[in-house]
Amino acid sequence: MTGLAERLADLASGAMLDDARVTGCSRLSSEFVRLELSAAAFRKATWVPGAKLQLRPRRGSMSLRTYTPTSWDVARGVTELIAFTHGTGPAAHWFESVTDGRTCEVFGPRRSIDLREATGPVLFVGDESSVALACALRTVSGDVRFVFEARDPAGLTDVLAQLRITERVTVSATSADRADLLRRARHDAPQAPYTLIVTGDAATVHAVRRDSRGWDRKPRQIKGKAYWAEGRTGLD
Ligand SMILES: Cc1cc2nc3c(=O)[nH]c(=O)nc-3n(C[C@H](O)[C@H](O)[C@H](O)COP(=O)(O)OP(=O)(O)OC[C@H]3O[C@@H](n4cnc5c(N)ncnc54)[C@H](O)[C@@H]3O)c2cc1C
Repeated sequence: MTGLAERLADLASGAMLDDARVTGCSRLSSEFVRLELSAAAFRKATWVPGAKLQLRPRRGSMSLRTYTPTSWDVARGVTELIAFTHGTGPAAHWFESVTDGRTCEVFGPRRSIDLREATGPVLFVGDESSVALACALRTVSGDVRFVFEARDPAGLTDVLAQLRITERVTVSATSADRADLLRRARHDAPQAPYTLIVTGDAATVHAVRRDSRGWDRKPRQIKGKAYWAEGRTGLD
């Protein structure tokens, strides 16, 4: 971007986005950061569990990155995010270097998956980017089986334990054919009519949706959303 385009991006962002301050920051592991964000605008927001919040990780650009609040305290104007810092993208870099007291610009919350619609048992399939959604789901449902895929299953299991997601959880090593993940998901599908929630890698969301059509215990409804895709940036 030219200097003028960058200044225009900053001006437009100033008009459209809300300022938030990091009021808590803890590292769950070398790849996971938990942040508490506070903003006056959060006191007026309506949060639906599963909604998204977008963040502008880099000045001079309008490009936003999307995260999932785990909870929302309207009275205090506080929310919490959990980010997986998977690589060298602007958001991963921002979350890696973030510290308490830093400010940022955010947009939202806005509708994404509405977890309140997941009544009854839930089969949750996700990856590292879906950990915050799993936490948000716990605010509305106690009857959940979690099946995760992760590049580092032991590392993710440890992060989930810190978040008290320890029961009815299975973590499969990420693989190109997803055979182990699909086998575990099929195996863990509840007997009673259930909702399948699947988020994370676009290719996994697609594979799970397709595979579930052949399961003996098919989901009564599917809520799926790609959170990222190989070679693409900033999915919304
Ligand atoms: C509705 C929604 C909610 C989301 N909630 C969360 C959340 O709560 N926590 C969270 O950590 N993420 C979440 N994500 C995913 C997050 O927005 C993406 O991972 C985003 O691309 C990160 O931005 P970046 O600038 O780091 O990387 P980008 O610049 O977007 O991408 C750089 C490269 O990294 C790759 N990449 C992106 N994400 C991943 C990943 N997870 N694993 C491996 N490679 C990846 C891309 O394919 C690309 O090649 C959510 C996404 C959506 C759409």
